Amino acid sequence: MNDVHRRVAVVTGAGTGIGRATARAFSADGAHVLAVGRRTGPLAETAAGHPLITPLAADVTAADAPDRLVNAALDRYGRLDVLVNNAGVAGDSPLAEFDETAARRQLDTNLLAPVRLVHAALPALTETRGVIVNVTTSIGQRAWPGSAVYAAGKAALDSLTRSWAVELAPHGIRVVAVAPGAIDTPIGEHLGLSPEQQAAVRRWQLAHTPLGRIGHPEDVAWAIRHLCDPTAGFITGVVLPVDGGAVVA
Ligand code: NAP
Repeated sequence: MNDVHRRVAVVTGAGTGIGRATARAFSADGAHVLAVGRRTGPLAETAAGHPLITPLAADVTAADAPDRLVNAALDRYGRLDVLVNNAGVAGDSPLAEFDETAARRQLDTNLLAPVRLVHAALPALTETRGVIVNVTTSIGQRAWPGSAVYAAGKAALDSLTRSWAVELAPHGIRVVAVAPGAIDTPIGEHLGLSPEQQAAVRRWQLAHTPLGRIGHPEDVAWAIRHLCDPTAGFITGVVLPVDGGAVVA
């Protein structure tokens, strides 16, 4: 494919898990991908053997991150077609043990960073009639005792998805969300859970997932990739659960 015709995607949180699988899915489709995360090691691993993936070390909560990411795509490739707001952190506690710092970190990363990034990307996405994908969570649509701030932040991102879909439709920009259920990624490890605690969470999730398995990052990447495909051009404002039926059970 001629390089100027390749689509360009920015995927945040692309060093591990769902972001890594998504970056690789776009590159397998022939798109250039800027893979964003804080740690260079995991990003390099994501890009290894995938020449269309370029690592970009950045903290999405940093004040200069939105302009840096968008300018990196424009300077390097001259366009931006897809923005995947996937970087996320969990780390909640029951209300009785409320931790202000943890709450702020989650809301800054999971909610405000996507708002700032979408704002910075608007002119470039208008140019290409691009697509924004927010990675939320299927528990954002249910009660999640002990993780209420995390769930609320993700539910707010679902809400932004609907509002932006309508607000940006006149610019030709589509906005969608995917809401993963239990997916096999290092998120529990990043949260600081012990292997025993992670196993206990998995057991609970398995018992509450009708399809009877934990999802793979590629299950979510499949949905993101297809929602961004031009053949999905009449879809906007949706929140698609990729959760083995958990949210409807
Ligand atoms: P993960 O492996 O922990 O991925 C999260 C990624 O975000 C990491 O690679 C992390 O890399 C990056 N990140 C975190 N803070 C960042 C920041 N400030 N700036 C840039 N990058 C940052 O977990 P995952 O499961 O793939 O999570 C991906 C998304 O899916 C998250 O939004 C999560 O909330 C959502 N989700 C996951 C599940 C699940 O069961 N796995 C379920 C529902 C929703 P660095 O530390 O190197 O920055």
